[in-house]
Amino acid sequence: MVNHDPATEHDPVAEAAARAVDKDPNVYTLDAKAGAREALAPIRELHKPMTADERESRWLSWWRDDDGDICRECTSSWAVAQWPCPTAKLCYTTEELQ
Ligand SMILES: [Zn+2]
Repeated sequence: MVNHDPATEHDPVAEAAARAVDKDPNVYTLDAKAGAREALAPIRELHKPMTADERESRWLSWWRDDDGDICRECTSSWAVAQWPCPTAKLCYTTEELQ
């Protein structure tokens, strides 16, 4: 079981919803969360760990699983980006990144 520390946990969807509700009391939290989740979905689809097959197809088969995950969007043929990348840290909860 993973221990969670509320002081350091990060949930970008919940935080965006809280900001929306703070700015407009007519906004419902669940609606704000749904909107934030939908806004982040295409970004999350881009910034996720690259699979072994994806590494192979992008001439990165030399990268080993033991070296940790790399971001499929931020990694190019000239630069490998460790996972989680800075964008992923804005799109995923702390729990999802563990
Ligand atoms: Zn990335």
